[in-house]
Amino acid sequence: MKRCPQCSANYADLLSFCSLDGAPLQHDESATKSEATTRRMEPEMSAQDIIMEIADHLRKTVDRGEQALIRFEPLTGLKLTMAQISEHFEAAALKAECEVIDKTDTRATVRRASGIYIA
Ligand SMILES: [Zn+2]
Repeated sequence: MKRCPQCSANYADLLSFCSLDGAPLQHDESATKSEATTRRMEPEMSAQDIIMEIADHLRKTVDRGEQALIRFEPLTGLKLTMAQISEHFEAAALKAECEVIDKTDTRATVRRASGIYIA
């Protein structure tokens, strides 16, 4: 990326002069770098976050002592992918005191412990 030293407008690398004031454009490494940094800093959910989100959902959805079919699709509204949900489901279920009775790539049947769960 190139930047005009006069008006700070950004231009593509192949351009040489600012179209607004005619000033010769300079390469702007900092803009390119900060863009890359911003991309890298985008909050990506850690495994721990994913597990917490799913566990939360399970606690809200499944009553104690109840068995329920959990579809993964509504969970994708929490910015989780089906693969992430499927991968971390067992750990999340454990956290939410749920026993996984049956599980596919898109849904699971869980039973939530009725009493106090001792890990
Ligand atoms: Zn300019």
